[in-house]
Amino acid sequence: MHDDSQDAPWSLETLAIRAGHDRTAEQEHAEPIFPTSSFVYESAAEAARKFKGEEPGNIYSRFTNPTVHTFEKRLAAMEGGERCVATSSGMSAILCTALALLSAGDEIVASRSLFGSTVSLLDKYLGKFGIITRYVELSDLNAWEAAMTPATKLLFAETPSNPLSEVADIAALAEIAHRHDALLAIDNCFLTPALQRPLALGADLIIHSATKYLDGQGRAIGGAVVGGHDLLEGVFGAVRTAGPCLSPFNAWIFTKGLETLSLRMRAHCENAQRLAEWLEQHPGVAQIYYSGLESHPQHALAARQQTGFGAVLGFEVHGGQAEAWQVIDATRLISITGNLGDVKSTITHPASTTHGRLSDEQKQAAGITPGLLRVSVGLESFDDIQRDLARGLDALARRG
Ligand SMILES: *Cc1c(COP(=O)(O)O)cnc(C)c1O
Repeated sequence: MHDDSQDAPWSLETLAIRAGHDRTAEQEHAEPIFPTSSFVYESAAEAARKFKGEEPGNIYSRFTNPTVHTFEKRLAAMEGGERCVATSSGMSAILCTALALLSAGDEIVASRSLFGSTVSLLDKYLGKFGIITRYVELSDLNAWEAAMTPATKLLFAETPSNPLSEVADIAALAEIAHRHDALLAIDNCFLTPALQRPLALGADLIIHSATKYLDGQGRAIGGAVVGGHDLLEGVFGAVRTAGPCLSPFNAWIFTKGLETLSLRMRAHCENAQRLAEWLEQHPGVAQIYYSGLESHPQHALAARQQTGFGAVLGFEVHGGQAEAWQVIDATRLISITGNLGDVKSTITHPASTTHGRLSDEQKQAAGITPGLLRVSVGLESFDDIQRDLARGLDALARRG
């Protein structure tokens, strides 16, 4: 990529297509795949220099791989970060961030509404090594402040939250973190750099599950951490030593996925907004959670901090689990699955699936009611998605 620093910097849409590919001597136009575990040297002396780190270059694909590096450079450019390290999954991105930056006795303050496996990782595994996590209400800045102790090293949030679309003020969280000499990590999985750029708002680290919108077509598992050089050098060390590196094949899928990210996210948002507006008026629906609606309590913050509202929405039907399950079982198009961030629309009942392991009290505190449904709005025709949900919802409304 030839960037002329005299020119205006390239926009996100251009970086998504052009950043990160250093063309090889073969003059390929599309990004190549390097499925190789190791790399060779011209001489014993060159091998020695590379192993010592005196000369840059590839050694072994657990450390670096050119296809993985293309994905890393492209995502770093799109997030506005100095460096990105790719990982085998979103979960290993979080694990390696913790391995790199935290020690026994350190504390994390995190939002209560986190991805389920993230909560297990923090409590069950990091907890085992003496790293404690305190959970607070995502949008309650006073609660974040009150949970800070001298041992707090990391603040961790997902915004908007899943499945209730609560929004955190990223700049305000960064201010709290930095005043206490802690770091702020934002899981940017739901919005991606196409709709939200947390580093520009003051966050130190971005976590991605590339499995979701970065691929966008449900084909591969992967993750990434993005941030400044020094922090990411630590994360890189953890990944290359512990081993959850991204495969070159998956890196290639994600690299090609990024090329259409902006277009897809715009189309996802458009379908989700129309669906949310329709659901809000539907007599079978008791409550809708989507930050793109003016009735959403944090709509103004979301509009300021994001360039789109994303495509995951929650809604509560009148009744309870039986009624929610009827709406799911009446679908013929929308996939019944806990996954999200796909061109295919998906629907799930959080209380009995993604949040099923929570106690009734925890569910109540998290707003996971028996009538709650979550839809990840895909890119099928809006009319078909709407008709698929209307089948079950109209039946509920008719029964009153
Ligand atoms: C899916 C997901 C993860 C975990 O990513 P994997 O790629 O499944 O390991 C983390 N955070 C959020 C918000 C997710 O949706």
